[in-house]
Amino acid sequence: MRWSGQSVGDAAPGLFGMAGLVRSVRTPEFAGMTFHEVLAKSALNRVPAASAMPFEWTVNPYRGCSHACVYCFARNTHTYLDLDAGKDFDSQVVVKVNVAEVLRAEVSKPKWSRQPVALGTNTDPYQRAEGRYQLMPGIIEALSDSRTPFSILTKGTLLRRDLGMLVAAADRVPVHLAMSIAVYDDELQQRVEPGTPTTAARLATVRAAADAGFDVDVFVMPLLPYLTDTVDHLDRAFAAIREAGAASVTYGALHLRPGAKEWFLQWIDREHPQLSARYRAMYRSSSSAPEAYRRWLKERVSVIKRRHGFSGKPGFERMRSAPALKLAPQPTLF
Ligand code: SF4
Repeated sequence: MRWSGQSVGDAAPGLFGMAGLVRSVRTPEFAGMTFHEVLAKSALNRVPAASAMPFEWTVNPYRGCSHACVYCFARNTHTYLDLDAGKDFDSQVVVKVNVAEVLRAEVSKPKWSRQPVALGTNTDPYQRAEGRYQLMPGIIEALSDSRTPFSILTKGTLLRRDLGMLVAAADRVPVHLAMSIAVYDDELQQRVEPGTPTTAARLATVRAAADAGFDVDVFVMPLLPYLTDTVDHLDRAFAAIREAGAASVTYGALHLRPGAKEWFLQWIDREHPQLSARYRAMYRSSSSAPEAYRRWLKERVSVIKRRHGFSGKPGFERMRSAPALKLAPQPTLF
């Protein structure tokens, strides 16, 4: 076991309602973090049929995420473990130490359908703990050896460590890579995503993956009303993404599910109190931004995307000449 001697106690099975818990670990290298090492019984999760997600299977080596994005939609899942959706989500991370072995056994079964598997849809597989636990290489090998297509969405620059493996895997199965980069203002980025690598570091990772031959999708989401939806911010974002060699861009407005909503609104009250009333009005009755806002945002982003040569279709597109910007001013919606 890694970090022997730094365990904070062999936890009783069933702690946090989680069978398979082996021990909890703290180390000076990860100040303020506790890792709960568990032996998982299964690795593949089936996405509920009612979900709008474009994949049926996911693998999540970690629960909780040290990237600590204030808006993270997965926060509420920590309450299932008797942990809270705020600070605990950021600092108490469950590590499925045997996930690669279990996954290999699952995808080796004759009945395995080899449907695409998505990583990074709940918590980030390249969060800081991955530097120590190194679960992703085994996962990549298991999927690739079983001829299972897969995708990875991350904010972690640690992805670069595995690029060679991913290139080899892509010779055997379709592999899709996406990097999430929502904020192109360094100060705001560190405040709203305090545990993440910088925007510049993530753009450099996009460049490295593109140079390795991948058509990288950049997720510009969530866009934060009144903070990152300005023409200036979007223009800088799309220019930087284009410069980094991304093939396509996916964007979306802030979505505030229960758990994330309370945590995010506390942050807004602290950091941007002038926006408190507007955010509360926007997200009073729904997790989604109002339809009028989303329509307005779509119109604005579409123009700026085209201006930077992204048509919205996946795959690398040639830079087009930049048309003059004709954009509607932001309406006072709330
Ligand atoms: S990187 Fe993803 S999973 Fe991790 S805190 Fe941020 S939004 Fe959540």
